[in-house]
Amino acid sequence: MRPEILFPLFSNLTSIGGLGEKSAQLLKNLDCNKVADLVFHLPSSMIDRSYCPRLKDARPGVIATVTVKIIEHIAPARKSQPYKVVAEDDTEQMIVSFFKAYPASIQKNLPIGAYRVLSGKIEKFNNQLQMSHPDYIVRPEEAAAVSGIEPVYPLTAGITNKMLNKWIKQALQQVPQFPEWLDGQYIKEQNFPPFNQALLQLHHPKYAADLDVNSPERRRLAYDELLSNQLALAIVRQKVKKQYGRELKGNGLLRKKLLDKLPFKLTGAQEKVLKEINADQASPYRMLRLLQGDVGCGKTIVAFMSMLNAVECGAQAAIMAPTEILAKQHLETIGSLSEELGIRCELLTGRTKGKKRAQILEDLAEGKIDIIIGTHALFQENVEFKDLAYAVIDEQHRFGVHQRLNLSGKGNKADILVMTATPIPRTLLLTAYGDMEYSKIDQVPEGRQPVDTRVMPVDRLPEIVSALKRKVESGARAYWVCPLVEESEKLDLAAAEERFESLKKYFGNNVGLIHGKMKETEKDAVMERFKKGEISLLVATTVIEVGVNVPEATVMIIEHAERFGLAQLHQLRGRIKRGCQASTCILLYSYPLSENSRARLNIMKETEDGFRIAEEDLDLRGGGEILGTKQSGFNAFKLADLSVHKNLLLTAARDAQLIIETDPELSSPRGKALRILLYLFERDDAVKTYMA
Ligand code: ADP
Ligand code: MG
Repeated sequence: MRPEILFPLFSNLTSIGGLGEKSAQLLKNLDCNKVADLVFHLPSSMIDRSYCPRLKDARPGVIATVTVKIIEHIAPARKSQPYKVVAEDDTEQMIVSFFKAYPASIQKNLPIGAYRVLSGKIEKFNNQLQMSHPDYIVRPEEAAAVSGIEPVYPLTAGITNKMLNKWIKQALQQVPQFPEWLDGQYIKEQNFPPFNQALLQLHHPKYAADLDVNSPERRRLAYDELLSNQLALAIVRQKVKKQYGRELKGNGLLRKKLLDKLPFKLTGAQEKVLKEINADQASPYRMLRLLQGDVGCGKTIVAFMSMLNAVECGAQAAIMAPTEILAKQHLETIGSLSEELGIRCELLTGRTKGKKRAQILEDLAEGKIDIIIGTHALFQENVEFKDLAYAVIDEQHRFGVHQRLNLSGKGNKADILVMTATPIPRTLLLTAYGDMEYSKIDQVPEGRQPVDTRVMPVDRLPEIVSALKRKVESGARAYWVCPLVEESEKLDLAAAEERFESLKKYFGNNVGLIHGKMKETEKDAVMERFKKGEISLLVATTVIEVGVNVPEATVMIIEHAERFGLAQLHQLRGRIKRGCQASTCILLYSYPLSENSRARLNIMKETEDGFRIAEEDLDLRGGGEILGTKQSGFNAFKLADLSVHKNLLLTAARDAQLIIETDPELSSPRGKALRILLYLFERDDAVKTYMA
């Protein structure tokens, strides 16, 4: 249950005075859905209204707050003219003008003979002072409310800064006095103000420095948010770790047989991570380990070896891929090797239908199938295993956080290995997985050649096409990637289709097109033709899946490369690094190209180290771009900005670990305060699921 102290912050926006249903809808565009979101909606800049000159001294072009007497109203002769009000102080006159205004409301707000305080930008035309559309008009007794510093908030259409200021002021009054949930010593070291004070101060900036993401106030709130994230993960982690699992200690016969059959030797890195995985499998506790390895480093064989361990123990193993294409690709490698080893491996996806499906389900339940490859259908549908002891989840970042936490379902305390090719920087890893057990393959098989990466302007297209034609004629296979801009899938598709048509003029029937709107069967068919070499050039939107394996493809051209995230470019480029041949990647950009974009593209030219690329991308753009989507669980922060608050995250991770070790049920006074923190930042799933 959510602690009562939080109820006011979790009430509807419409509970705020003067905030109606319509505005509440608009505020959703700012990610504001409840009172707490308003409280965490921080100003991005400020306006100084403390300049209160006499009119004679007012500097033109500057925002000023002046006290004047209203002298006269001049209604416009024509509609296109403004409604004018003459006002003055002891020193000079000023014209206050309103375009498209309701005379009645102006007459009410600025009655003749009355004194009013106006705040807005003063201009001087033909020696005449003017102020058009004052930002504020108040009575002299209310002057203090407008003559200070006004925070400026990020806005959305239909919502003005004035409205937000009014509403946020009220929202702040709803913030209860919270108990301190941070460690006293750390607060001192960091010079952190208390939560409530930090919040108030951030909403009432006095100096530009108060808006800095590194101000003590902002860091305090960022730390609170990061700690809630880390604590939630630590709770889950601790509970999962405590579960007893299976001790998988196979006799090694199948694995030895496999190694004898492979045309290559495992790399040192592959051997190292296999040892780590085997140790987890053999332990009496449940395994939950993340295996990270750059594209092409050979994760599949590691997964397969560890699956064989389960099979040697007489149990079943499963591998789940995020898409049909990838599942089928696993079948090609794992399936055919299984056959050679004399064990049974099958594919089960949403498209396995009818008799075939029924047979597979029956054989799985009876234990006649040793290894099953599938998509998420494997875990969602009514699939029963005789004895699932080990599950591998490939390309994990495509699955949501909840799927990740709810893996337990099918297996008999199945051990779990999660694999990802996305080079997630350590910082982001922490935010999504907490301090999860983690192995990294940090070496690619020998003999791989670096990709020759070039950055070129799109003007050079004709010359690139001719060079490509020569390459294709000498047997090369190439991808041509057109960008996907999320807002308009239609336009993207049009661009890809247009490119396809224009390339057809040069390459005839030797070119194919693949995009996200095609049916799975159509996609498969095109992919198949490309694999077999029936077509040499494949024009694609970004549907060319992470992990697709066509070793013969050695050329990639990426249009509008500047629109992609670096991590995405890295994944794409990985498609042409599969074999031992030299390969070329051309990153085409269009003008205008910002300084930052150029720097980013140059990183691609400089390095093929996915981790370095990811780190640089994080520094250049913040966390959001690494994986693109918010629901992936990365960078879902309101107050923390990982490109500047990295260190806070590392501390929060240690802090969370310590808390869980010393107060596992969060029952101490600090523990109880931390429970409020978890609810405040909506990380309460962990508490609800795992705690009393
Ligand atoms: P990823 O880690 O991207 O999933 P894969 O497992 O698909 O990579 O491996 C990429 C390619 O490298 C495959 O063709 C695989 O057969 C090959 N491979 C894997 N391990 C080695 C090795 N130790 N030596 C040589 N080639 C290897
Ligand atoms: Mg793979």
